[in-house]
Amino acid sequence: MSKRTDIAIIGGGPAGLSAAINAVARGKSVQLMSSVGNNLEKAENVDNYLGFYKISGTELMNKFEEHARALGVSAMKGRVSNIMPLGDHFLINFGGEITESTTVILAIGVAKARQIPGEADLLGRGVSYCATCDGMLYRGKKVVVWGMAQDAIEETNFLNGIGVDVTLIARGSRSSELKADIPFISGAIGEIIGKDRVTAVTVGQDTIEVQGVFILRSSIAPSSLVPGLETQNGYIKVTNKMETNIPGIFAAGDCTGTPLQISKATGEGLIAAQQAARYIDASQSK
Ligand SMILES: Cc1cc2nc3c(=O)[nH]c(=O)nc-3n(C[C@H](O)[C@H](O)[C@H](O)COP(=O)(O)OP(=O)(O)OC[C@H]3O[C@@H](n4cnc5c(N)ncnc54)[C@H](O)[C@@H]3O)c2cc1C
Repeated sequence: MSKRTDIAIIGGGPAGLSAAINAVARGKSVQLMSSVGNNLEKAENVDNYLGFYKISGTELMNKFEEHARALGVSAMKGRVSNIMPLGDHFLINFGGEITESTTVILAIGVAKARQIPGEADLLGRGVSYCATCDGMLYRGKKVVVWGMAQDAIEETNFLNGIGVDVTLIARGSRSSELKADIPFISGAIGEIIGKDRVTAVTVGQDTIEVQGVFILRSSIAPSSLVPGLETQNGYIKVTNKMETNIPGIFAAGDCTGTPLQISKATGEGLIAAQQAARYIDASQSK
């Protein structure tokens, strides 16, 4: 396990990068972890971010990243699948590696993915978001991976390697990086079936009997990421100090609600970083 960081920031969009530079300015150690891609990169033209009239989202994002790099922060690329509160610190599962931090800032944007019918009801009873966390439970059993995240192939190969009978389902065609003995189905899961536990999934007209489903999206609903995190209409509930209901976890940007705009995201990133720094200072002086 790595050395404990003061502030772990999840998400490398405008909110996460703003939190990162402001945390560094407060003298705190920072670990920034982010899946590839963010919403701002999709903006063809941004006209309402002060000081940058007529700039593309990609150009603006490059400037944000350049600023953070100049202060020694760049995002470690990968997906956080789980954050475990442990009293005075947190354990973060980052692509199967466990990282420790005193505080966490969630800057994860909005998870737009629609849930699959059956997903929420069977979560923890055959549905999992993390192959490296739960894979061992399925050794010798039949599972599918529904893979939209970058690491889906890696995770599928991992499951195969530990003796899980795994099939990858994904849109598009088979990747050459997928181990040759792993079956591949091009398509999407329509429904997850099961009463007390997962028993099958549907793909188009077919029903496939399985005991587990690993859903690997690049983003995860906040309440699935952190057990006990309070949300409202899908957004993380925060105070005006960007505190969540879990002491030590702060949130910033689109994930806390509307307006879904860059200025709000960077402003909230600043507040979250300052409050996280204050929280650390207060706990150290106790
Ligand atoms: C087409 C388009 C045009 C837009 N135009 C404008 C505009 O003109 N002006 C304006 O103000 N706003 C605009 N926006 C909105 C703006 O892009 C967002 O408000 C802004 O990007 C929010 O920043 P954020 O950091 O909160 O989230 P995001 O930019 O979405 O960043 C979230 C980050 O978290 C990462 N992440 C999520 N889950 C995980 C996880 N489990 N583990 C690791 N990383 C994770 C994501 O990969 C991403 O990098 C536009 C958005 C779109 C889509």
